[in-house]
Amino acid sequence: MSKSKVIVVPCFEYDEEKVYLSVKRGIDALGGIEQFVNINDKILVKPNFLSPGDNSRAVTTNPTVTKAVLRILNEAGCRNVKYGDSPGHGSCKDVAATAGPLESEAYGATLADMSSEVLFPYEDGITCKEFYFTKEVVESDVIINVCKMKTHALERITGAVKNLYGLICGFRKGAGHVKYPNDTIFARMLCDIHRCVNCKLHIMDGIVAMEGNGPGSGTPINMNVLLFSNDPVAMDTVFCYLIDLNPQLVPTNSQGAATGIGNIEEDEIEIVIAEDTGCVTVSKDELFEKFGNAKYDVARQKPKKSFLQCFSIVMTKFSKRPYIKKADCVKCGVCVKHCPVPGKAISFANGKDNAPVYDYRKCIRCYCCQEMCPKHAISVRGK
Ligand code: SF4
Ligand code: SF4
Repeated sequence: MSKSKVIVVPCFEYDEEKVYLSVKRGIDALGGIEQFVNINDKILVKPNFLSPGDNSRAVTTNPTVTKAVLRILNEAGCRNVKYGDSPGHGSCKDVAATAGPLESEAYGATLADMSSEVLFPYEDGITCKEFYFTKEVVESDVIINVCKMKTHALERITGAVKNLYGLICGFRKGAGHVKYPNDTIFARMLCDIHRCVNCKLHIMDGIVAMEGNGPGSGTPINMNVLLFSNDPVAMDTVFCYLIDLNPQLVPTNSQGAATGIGNIEEDEIEIVIAEDTGCVTVSKDELFEKFGNAKYDVARQKPKKSFLQCFSIVMTKFSKRPYIKKADCVKCGVCVKHCPVPGKAISFANGKDNAPVYDYRKCIRCYCCQEMCPKHAISVRGK
């Protein structure tokens, strides 16, 4: 995958005109809205409408950000635009009534209903082979993800990757948490959603973010930025840089990189600050110096292992192992890239001139490396 660009636009308040100018600057820094949509496309703009309530609590995408996107689409001549989300509580209409924007202020866009579901088979899914999407998702040509910068109990943060869970219809979302019972499996299902739908542009509202007990009950905190990218993993990684959180500890990041929906490594991401004076590429440290907050309340500790995980670790020792047939290996690194284990269970520990090697103590036997190897150089067999 080539280098991903994440645009960071400073913005200090939810003044409608200032937000519009900032959103426009961010999209223009990525090449303009025409890079992402055609004017005849059926477009679904997907904010975070978690639940109805007061915008000052930072639970939902601020309506000024969603409105700015709708205005830019309208100015580009797009006339087939819907906006909405399938919320955790209440209907899309209920949330729009409080978290907005109202249809009368939506620059000709229609509020999506988001209450009817369509079973959508997805044979290429790694973890999930079918989704109950809302009708508007299946009917759209392209989706624009307008997410909120927040903490999350299961995944540590919720940003671009997690926000597309709202494409799943209503009560099905709760059932999904049962079906995908831990943070890693759940993250892999989210990555399948990204692989399945055509979501080309991600915008994160981090003017006022949420820290602490997110995603619904945390504390608003000024972060004063809007982020823009076509890569949801790179965007969430930059969010991590801003709050001094190791991006590898976020399952939606590590699994997102492993399943190929985006980049997590520092040298694979270009960070550009776009101010009214112009654009400048910065390092993650320079970004942090300007906008970062090391006191942002988010889970930074390494995960503890539950009894079931300990049992599962013992069981994996008796599972079949992946092996590399060195003669067939072209040292492309695809297996390393797709290993979902934080810190990698397969690496070029002997240098890139040699075939990768396994660390079987870390290997969870998911066999993604074997599945992804383009040269069929990996086989799976008993010890
Ligand atoms: S993906 Fe296959 S060919 Fe590429 S480095 Fe890994 S084992 Fe070798
Ligand atoms: S089988 Fe092991 S080494 Fe291969 S991708 Fe899965 S965890 Fe990584």
